[in-house]
Amino acid sequence: MSLHDIQSRVTTACTATGRAPASVTLIAVSKEQAEARVLPVLEAGHRIYGENRVQEAAGKWPDWQERFGKVELHLLGPLQSNKARAAMELFDVMHSLDRPKLAQAIARLAQDLGRCPRLFIQINTGAEPQKAGILPAEADRFIADCRALDLPIIGLMCIPPVDEPAAAHFGLLAQIAARNGLDGLSMGMSDDFETAIAHGATHIRVGSAIFGARH
Ligand SMILES: *Cc1c(COP(=O)(O)O)cnc(C)c1O
Repeated sequence: MSLHDIQSRVTTACTATGRAPASVTLIAVSKEQAEARVLPVLEAGHRIYGENRVQEAAGKWPDWQERFGKVELHLLGPLQSNKARAAMELFDVMHSLDRPKLAQAIARLAQDLGRCPRLFIQINTGAEPQKAGILPAEADRFIADCRALDLPIIGLMCIPPVDEPAAAHFGLLAQIAARNGLDGLSMGMSDDFETAIAHGATHIRVGSAIFGARH
């Protein structure tokens, strides 16, 4: 697969469900990928990338942005409160707001920095004990609390359980977002982004299908 192939598949999936291709943002997930794999995608003009770890991203994106110009950077992985400041300085969008303490920390730092990345709240749609995210039953309350803190919440994110069909989880996420008046849906990865688009995904996070398997 290549960037171009994935873009065509996005367009096809959109057309199939009567959506405009421009309504889906393709985040190229460059975590753990060698420079030799990322540069061709930068050279092809793609300007939206996702990373899982603050330190890894801080180690490579300043240099790449110096060479290729500004890209839109998305943090996808879990965020420790003590790394929140560094994350907010580097990322344009963060997808893993998953607990009240982190919401409070981000709100304080936003005051300090005078800006705040756009935020997705991560929902643990499968209620998996080992997985981060707000439980579906607690989502409405948490969204309201984040709004009370003036956080720029633009949508919800989920990572479905590996051993279940993803469609039900995408449907649940879309339902929670709709009843809370949120437009953004960050869902769908290499194996299921077409299903996610059919369920209304606005942001798909595609890594290995673009860059190849991670080691
Ligand atoms: C790694 C990762 C992705 C990309 O996964 P692929 O299967 O390589 O497309 C998407 N979202 C999150 C949260 C990830 O950690």
